[in-house]
Amino acid sequence: MTPVLQLDGVNASYGAFRALFDVSLSVAPGEALAVVGANGAGKTTLARVASGLVAPAAGTVSVAGTDLSRAPAHVFARAGVAHAPEGRSVFGSLSVEENLVLSIRRVRGRRGVQGGLEVAFEMFPRLMERRHQMAGTLSGGEQRMLALARVLVDAPKLLIADELSLGLAPQIVEQTYISLAQLRAAGTALLVVEQHVSHALALCDRVAVLDHGSVSWTGPTSEATDRVQAFLYADTAGNAD
Ligand code: ATP
Repeated sequence: MTPVLQLDGVNASYGAFRALFDVSLSVAPGEALAVVGANGAGKTTLARVASGLVAPAAGTVSVAGTDLSRAPAHVFARAGVAHAPEGRSVFGSLSVEENLVLSIRRVRGRRGVQGGLEVAFEMFPRLMERRHQMAGTLSGGEQRMLALARVLVDAPKLLIADELSLGLAPQIVEQTYISLAQLRAAGTALLVVEQHVSHALALCDRVAVLDHGSVSWTGPTSEATDRVQAFLYADTAGNAD
């Protein structure tokens, strides 16, 4: 089966600083891959390369078998890749409901609006309470919920989830992960970068460990637990977040 995402020999740099070294990995349709690693290991860079926000300096990035290595982010989006939360923020001068309707209409058409709103409000009841509020006046956490709901109603082919739980209350994090599991059950593949590694592991089939910009291990989640624990304990000493 053609992978929904394939990276081959990817290098990525910020000016003279090289953040990714010869990274190769793939995500099959409907599969969920967790990317774990210490702070600064390159996880966000990898997520950004996978959604066209950072162009690889070398190597190839393919989406559903098409080489998009030199393509801009909107071409990735059109190919079915969604990146949350970046690149999908909210329209501040529109209401919560208007923000949702814009996304839902694009995917489900006018007739799908009511059903789409119900799905979004079921995922995030807080958004229901705030449906008529201008999105720009929502709290930071509420804005993230809205941005996420907009992506989730989109049912992308591949969702790149980069630190979704950052800044969200534990209860909302739980709800977010339930929504991701539902999205996955509906056929969306996931690439998950998450500091709450236990959440990511519970959701994903496979794990890729990034170490100083290189993939040091990939394998099934069932075999990853010890390695990831070891990495986490080595890592917690030096990290505040
Ligand atoms: P964290 O877990 O702390 O979020 P990460 O694994 O997501 O880290 P990245 O954000 O991908 O790591 O960063 C990888 C390296 O690239 C880091 O050393 C970082 O300082 C560097 N880096 C990231 N963005 C830039 C940038 N715009 N300019 C220069 N260096 C950058």
